[in-house]
Amino acid sequence: MHDFVLNALRRASLRWSARTKVKQAARVARNKYSCAGCGQIVPNKEIEVDHVSPVVEPTQGFVDWNTYVARLFCDASNLQCLCRACHIEKGRAEGKIRLARKKAEKPPKEPKEAKPKKAAKKKQARRRPRKQGD
Ligand SMILES: [Zn+2]
Repeated sequence: MHDFVLNALRRASLRWSARTKVKQAARVARNKYSCAGCGQIVPNKEIEVDHVSPVVEPTQGFVDWNTYVARLFCDASNLQCLCRACHIEKGRAEGKIRLARKKAEKPPKEPKEAKPKKAAKKKQARRRPRKQGD
């Protein structure tokens, strides 16, 4: 259900008026848009509207639907046009933060799991064949 609603909202946000406004502002000529990241002029198919402060804060993760909707349908001041390369780069950086948070949130391994591993290691050591003399 979560992903279904998420995708529906994302699709609807493509028609968000602030988004159209920001894209119009980045338009420098017919089918030419300026990237707020690198300043390059790219065609329509390579320009993407980015949330300056991301819809889901990477350090926080998903909070609730009210927060999600408010951040997705945000003011034009939180939107910028980026070329695809800049958008991917920004997304990667956010992804790294997200991953680090998820790792930190993982519960520590139970001691039960660690014990048999140690025992197995000892067994292996004992099983190691001794050097045989001639
Ligand atoms: Zn760029």
